[in-house]
Amino acid sequence: MIERLLRREVMEVPPYVPGKSAGEIAERFGIPEESIVKLASNENPLGVPPAAVEALRRAAEEVNLYPEPFADELRRALSGYVGVPEECILVGNGSDDLLEQCAKAFLTPKDSAVLTPPTFSYYRILVQMYGSRCVEVPMVEGEEEYAFPESLPEAASGAKLVFLCSPNNPTGNVVQRSLLEELLELESVVVLDEAYAEFAGESFAPLVKHHENLVVTRTFSKAFGLAGVRVGYCLASEELVGYLARLRQPFSVSLLAQVAALAALRDEPFLRRSVEMVREGREYLGGELRRLGARVYASRANFLLFRTPRGDLPEELLKRGVIVRGCRSFGLEDTYVRVSVGTPEQNRRFVEALEEVLTQ
Ligand code: PMP
Repeated sequence: MIERLLRREVMEVPPYVPGKSAGEIAERFGIPEESIVKLASNENPLGVPPAAVEALRRAAEEVNLYPEPFADELRRALSGYVGVPEECILVGNGSDDLLEQCAKAFLTPKDSAVLTPPTFSYYRILVQMYGSRCVEVPMVEGEEEYAFPESLPEAASGAKLVFLCSPNNPTGNVVQRSLLEELLELESVVVLDEAYAEFAGESFAPLVKHHENLVVTRTFSKAFGLAGVRVGYCLASEELVGYLARLRQPFSVSLLAQVAALAALRDEPFLRRSVEMVREGREYLGGELRRLGARVYASRANFLLFRTPRGDLPEELLKRGVIVRGCRSFGLEDTYVRVSVGTPEQNRRFVEALEEVLTQ
């Protein structure tokens, strides 16, 4: 009966496939959980900023109270960090939450939205959830890097939304400024997902001051080490932020999320160290992957996409206690793998396991 009552779109929405957890693999292979190296979800290998841990401890005593509804103190601090007025910032329950508000605000069954596969799979889920059509314009695969397709503006003409991810998950490339500017000339909304911007050292966030059809989403889950807390934000014109704010749940950003994010934002040494660790680890992993004969794509994020002849690589690495991301869920062949940059020790463990598999 339930299928007769459900919206048709709900039955067609593809499920989100998360990276595997250490607990799951420990149980499946009988490996101690502590020894598992998880490089599958692009999390922060440095851990949680110490100042955020302290703030969370203190705030635990106050969770009988509702949080500040619009996270005003955090918005003020973010305004200094991103260089955009606080009226142009909306905080949410992870950047996924803000991506959803964008879909909710603009997409109807009459609309279409542009995606550039391979890319973050949640965009497709959102488009289908609102009954809209996906227009896929694939990324261009070069020998050593991917690029956003130059034909994007033409394909996007008439579309309501364009989802861009820069640096793109899983390919690691950033969008060309000229292409973004061309897209912003269209009568479409560009949702630019900058979840990994800190690692690229480059952001287009200030452009929201000049383009009313641009929304930039950012997160505390990656460079700030707070994935488990769930806090992200978006930047857009004051007018659009006002509309998006109407759509969100009241109190969608928990008290714990607000205090942790504020503390993380003030812990500049932690941010600097995590970005440096990723840049060094990215260099090291790229070099080792090439030494072992893999094709590696240039990345500005905290992960690398690579290709080997072995389609069973993720499974073979799992047996050795190393979790990486096979890219089938991104629509790529099994020979493509994404590995997150870990601590130097985790990176070495990954390389050892990889070498064992590739030379066995
Ligand atoms: N965008 C991209 C490109 C991502 O890879 C992720 C995390 N997997 C997200 C958004 C969601 O991040 P958050 O934890 O802020 O919801």
